[in-house]
Amino acid sequence: MSDNTHHLSEFHWLIEMVQTIEVGIVVLDRNYNIKLWNGFMENHSGVSPNILKDQNLFQHFADLDTEWLKKKMESVFLLKNRAFISWEQRPFVFCFKNYRPITGRAAHMYQNVTLQPLVSLTGEVSHISMIIYDVTDIAMNKLQLNNVNQTLEHLSQTDELTQLNNRRHWQHCMEREYERFSRYNTASSLVMLDIDHFKSINDRFGHQIGDVVIQRVAHMLSQSLRETDCAGRYGGEEFAVVLANTNSKDAISFTERLRKRVEQVEFMADDDVFRVTVSFGICDLNDDIKDSISWLSFADKALYRAKLNGRNRSVIYRDISGDEKLH
Ligand code: GH3
Ligand code: MG
Ligand code: MG
Repeated sequence: MSDNTHHLSEFHWLIEMVQTIEVGIVVLDRNYNIKLWNGFMENHSGVSPNILKDQNLFQHFADLDTEWLKKKMESVFLLKNRAFISWEQRPFVFCFKNYRPITGRAAHMYQNVTLQPLVSLTGEVSHISMIIYDVTDIAMNKLQLNNVNQTLEHLSQTDELTQLNNRRHWQHCMEREYERFSRYNTASSLVMLDIDHFKSINDRFGHQIGDVVIQRVAHMLSQSLRETDCAGRYGGEEFAVVLANTNSKDAISFTERLRKRVEQVEFMADDDVFRVTVSFGICDLNDDIKDSISWLSFADKALYRAKLNGRNRSVIYRDISGDEKLH
């Protein structure tokens, strides 16, 4: 075999490989005219290289993000550096349908794309190649894993009956708010609330109706919150709220509004119609409160005082007599 024939057959193998490899290969000249469009690209786009030869990429594929992709390609031409486009940045460059059975749930192919400068014999970058990897499997796995993680995180932080934060997560929010206060001296109030005479509701109407009452009160509570507030189910029919940037005066107008809303709601149980009331204890942060546990226990003391004073009311911790605070 002569040297020339040898080179030709090597060239033939290379072309064969470029055509059959499971990766998209496109070569463009300086004006974005298509010089090579391999088998992968033909299979997925449904357009044969004969039709595309010397056609302008952007004119032929109108759904490409022309401005964005040209900018990327220009920098490859100018800087003679590779550029990478990851599916996490944008899911795909070429909108190809996804036919893989395993990842059948994805409507389109996720792609990683490399733009590579091709240097001519004279040393200039006269062409660039696009290498398109089908990363649908990887992308779907990662997206599914993210979804599962998000669901797990939500479940681990949420109380099932009320969909409020559970006690552990609420406590975490409360501690963070206390740290914010220690650092920046921000105003903040903690509210504990507890449904009055709840045992008798369970006794008269049964546990299921009791659950409905808990859910309804929780719903009214969450509807009265601002974005920055954090409410949680602290125990059976007891809730806790951190009101960010709120002094005790604003906190008591919050609790009084909620208290009046709750006492107006009518609940149905068989032939009975009944109402419930709620008591509130409030403690706003100040320098005498040395840690988050004290903050919580002071709000609890105020709640206890609200119960003693006859229930269906709000009590602020700083309004309790000095003697009682000591106990
Ligand atoms: P007070 O006005 O002093 O708060 O009186 P109370 O009857 O509400 O007393 P307490 O707060 O101690 O009672 C809580 C009751 O709530 C006791 C428990 O049987 C009931 N409970 C706790 N968790 C649940 C729950 O998830 N569902 C229902 N239906 N009842 C619950
Ligand atoms: Mg109660
Ligand atoms: Mg209770």
